[in-house]
Amino acid sequence: MRTTVISESSNGALHPVTAQLVGAASSLGGPITVICPGGVGSSDVSHISGVTKVISVEGACFETYDCLAWSTSLSPLVEGDLILSSSSAIGRELISSIAAAKGIPVVQDVISLKDGFSVTRTIYSGKAIEEVVISSPCAISLRANSFESAEEGGNAETTTIDVNQEVSVAVKQALARASERLDVSEAEIIISGGRGMGSPANFSHLYEVADVLGAAVGASRAAVDTWDEIPHSMQVGQTGKTVTPNLYIAVGISGAIQHLAGMRSSKFILAINKDPEAPIFGVADYGIVSTWEDALPVLKDHLAELLSN
Ligand SMILES: Cc1cc2nc3c(=O)[nH]c(=O)nc-3n(C[C@H](O)[C@H](O)[C@H](O)COP(=O)(O)OP(=O)(O)OC[C@H]3O[C@@H](n4cnc5c(N)ncnc54)[C@H](O)[C@@H]3O)c2cc1C
Repeated sequence: MRTTVISESSNGALHPVTAQLVGAASSLGGPITVICPGGVGSSDVSHISGVTKVISVEGACFETYDCLAWSTSLSPLVEGDLILSSSSAIGRELISSIAAAKGIPVVQDVISLKDGFSVTRTIYSGKAIEEVVISSPCAISLRANSFESAEEGGNAETTTIDVNQEVSVAVKQALARASERLDVSEAEIIISGGRGMGSPANFSHLYEVADVLGAAVGASRAAVDTWDEIPHSMQVGQTGKTVTPNLYIAVGISGAIQHLAGMRSSKFILAINKDPEAPIFGVADYGIVSTWEDALPVLKDHLAELLSN
């Protein structure tokens, strides 16, 4: 099995999910080529155990994410029986575009790869697991934190390729702003706000806690639907993203079944809600019955102190 991995980056550095993609590819055997868009983290990738070859793809179009420009540049370099990306918002879109360019099928958000060749992914908001039989060549996006990371210790050769694609300045700027923050689908800690936040401006209080924890900020559908400033990419739940972080902090979120569908498999859940009867407390490991106005400043200071020691 020859596998090409599209590496994932975040804020100009290699994202740890890349080692998970290599770990998944290694479990299938065969040579592994890792393509690094924009060359980000290519030297780190070359030290991941199991990587056979690194292709560092550089060019102006990689300054900010633009699906068409990236896939046009990367598709000719992608070879092999299997193409892997992460199932982040960018990973999913990019691998779809590359798969379309190469005329091969794509399976998204896979949580396990089996011999033979079949893959599994969750469906119906995580209530069932679907097994999909695939034939190569095939493109697959893998859900973060579902596969063991490959260890360090590799020494793969790196080839650098220069490409140049024109991307409109407006799109560059908009996407740069959107990608400044961690994506909820990959974060290990998520703090989400609901309608109880009262206004989109109040989400700044969530970002303050997120900055202390290195967390991503998510939202309920009510928040996304009510306020234009809260983008759909932040929505967690049945019609949003399914997340499995180590810690999920729900603030001013009632805990409707459709929201729970997207976050109830988080390892630990902390709920902050002023209503002690809110259903979110039914799935929470820890609960604070309080307004967020009272609870968040205390939580932030306490966490900052804890983490500084
Ligand atoms: C087909 C379908 C799909 C859906 N998909 C999704 C989805 O993907 N994701 C999703 O989230 N929802 C989804 N929904 C909507 C879902 O049913 C709920 O309407 C939504 O989750 C409610 O969002 P919320 O908890 O933010 O708002 P509310 O239900 O209005 O809850 C607000 C909460 O904030 C608390 N609160 C108020 N003020 C404060 C304060 N100052 N401090 C602390 N707490 C406070 C209140 O006690 C309350 O519990 C879907 C619905 C349908 C029908």
